[in-house]
Amino acid sequence: MPALDPAQGNKRTAPTSRRPNVPGYNPMNWRRYWLVLGALLLLNIVITSIIESATQAPSVTIPYNVFIAQVDAGNVLNITATGDSIIGTAKAAVSAGSGQPSAKTFSTQRPTFASDNLEAALLKNKVSILAEPPNPPPPLWETLLLGFGPSLLLVFGLIYLMRRSAALAGGGAGGILGRFGQSNARLYNAERPDTTFADVAGIDEVKAELVEIVDFLKKPEKYQRLGGTVPKGVLLIGAPGTGKTLLARAVAGEAAVPFFSISAAEFIEAIVGVGAARVRDLFQKARSAAPAIVFIDELDAVGRSRSTGARLGGNEEQEQTLNQILTEMDGFDPQQGVIVLAATNRADVLDAALLRPGRFDRRVTVPFPDRRGRLEILKIHTRHIPLGPDVDLGLSASLTAGMVGADLRNLANEAALAAARRDASVVAQIDFTNALEKVELGSERKLSLSAMDRERIAYHEAGHALLGLLQPGADPVRRVSIIPRGQSLGATVQSPVDDRFNYGEDYLRGRITGALGGRAAEQLVYGVVTTGAESDLRQVTAIARQMVVRYGMSPRVGVLSLADDDNAGQSLTLSRPYSEATAAIVDEEVRRISEECLRQGVALLTSNRDKLDALVHALLEHDTLEEAAILAVTGLTAPEPVPATVS
Ligand code: ADP
Ligand code: ZN
Ligand code: MG
Repeated sequence: MPALDPAQGNKRTAPTSRRPNVPGYNPMNWRRYWLVLGALLLLNIVITSIIESATQAPSVTIPYNVFIAQVDAGNVLNITATGDSIIGTAKAAVSAGSGQPSAKTFSTQRPTFASDNLEAALLKNKVSILAEPPNPPPPLWETLLLGFGPSLLLVFGLIYLMRRSAALAGGGAGGILGRFGQSNARLYNAERPDTTFADVAGIDEVKAELVEIVDFLKKPEKYQRLGGTVPKGVLLIGAPGTGKTLLARAVAGEAAVPFFSISAAEFIEAIVGVGAARVRDLFQKARSAAPAIVFIDELDAVGRSRSTGARLGGNEEQEQTLNQILTEMDGFDPQQGVIVLAATNRADVLDAALLRPGRFDRRVTVPFPDRRGRLEILKIHTRHIPLGPDVDLGLSASLTAGMVGADLRNLANEAALAAARRDASVVAQIDFTNALEKVELGSERKLSLSAMDRERIAYHEAGHALLGLLQPGADPVRRVSIIPRGQSLGATVQSPVDDRFNYGEDYLRGRITGALGGRAAEQLVYGVVTTGAESDLRQVTAIARQMVVRYGMSPRVGVLSLADDDNAGQSLTLSRPYSEATAAIVDEEVRRISEECLRQGVALLTSNRDKLDALVHALLEHDTLEEAAILAVTGLTAPEPVPATVS
């Protein structure tokens, strides 16, 4: 499968992990609470047992016959009987036998079968007798303690925790609501603006748009004097990982103003009714620290259009939060020096109210970086990495069409890790190549493949590579590999010399033919195809369908764009702006194009069978072949790049 595909590169998602940043909510603090509670409980038990043992006189247990002997000897002062259990006090200390501990207080158990006349003996020796019911009710204090104690402990514990966290949140009186109502904005100190525009690369147009904001925050007087209008809100729109958060930070860093940021997704994950309170608090804090920046990340989480039915549950909460944001933005005067930046990757779903003048009236699109931009970003993220002499960041930049800043940072990091794993002192180009493959396809997998399977995979990948080479105008084949990675068993990496924005019909057909190269080779050599071609087919279908419905490249469908813009030809089945009959024609046309390309692929491979076999042998021997080796083995030259067509 051609792994790098500029046309499909726009669906990247950067993994983000976010934890609620509520003060006092941090797990460390909770652990402390539990430790304190546990320690208190333990102390309680220890103290109780000490008191118990201190208040009770030492006592011994004696056999019943010893007891009778003591009674007869007149040594017993008094006894208390509970059923057949007897405790008593003696004049002189008694013991169970010689050598046993002795004490004046003793206890004994009268056997139930005893038929002695104990009472008479006791009376005769003037022992005072107390009797208690066999199962005395526990004393009142014990009943109360056992009944209510645990609940009391819990209540007191909760009160304690609430007061603690309220104190932490600075809310004091607010109790638990005070805590959650506090905004979790992080104040970035004016003394330490750590991000600057120098940390942002490859999106110079966007930076230029934000320079004005920085200037306003730096010298608000200048703007106040002339009464110029400065936007209240700037909305940064771009795919995940394109650097929106980075830019917002850089604006604060450049202007050296406090940066209050919050993720709108966090508003709605908390307790109902606090989103609005948090917004109010956030803005209040920002105003008192002005000039300042308020940054609302993932604005679409609360700012979704109220008309779309897409909002399941939590509607009220989102609406309240959104309304509060709108109120705050209307309520403040831009001269106060607070500027609201917000980020979203779905500007199309935002509520129109947010985009009205006086709110986020300035919108800045953060684009995917082009090749030069990617190079600049790679340079930034390799600033602190020692690079070997063979490293060609320009090559890596051209191999990474469709990647965003976050991906490139990840790539640089993976390359550094790969070099460290080799115990190398500098990072080499091979580390970048490996890192790219890992980022694109996953880590290498240790699969024990049979010789048969390996050969089949080699033919499949060689088919892709050879067709990529044989077709004029195709993207250069950079690498072929039969090392299993992630979900795929092998890979053919093709990437354009430069980013393409327009595609000619020949180029697209070439892409389809190349994508079918694996299948074509398997069909030619083995006569049957395997499941390995599945993802290839998905790609083929996607390209062919776009040719038909978007680019008007099918004479039968004609020069029409049938795709509605939202679906971008991806989910045509969901909302099809054309009839069943046309749909049938589209399907036939997609099939026709694919089949023509497959036939052409098989024909090309048949007439170049020697090159195919040579490539397979080299692959089986080396596992991976780079561009130069591929050309050497096949004796071909890289096809002349056809300039991208301009429409
Ligand atoms: P977004 O908010 O658009 O999803 P981020 O700003 O969180 O993206 O980007 C994540 C990381 O990717 C940044 O911290 C930065 O290291 C890197 N990055 C993204 N875009 C760029 C860029 N244009 N220049 C330099 N680094 C970038
Ligand atoms: Zn394939
Ligand atoms: Mg972000």
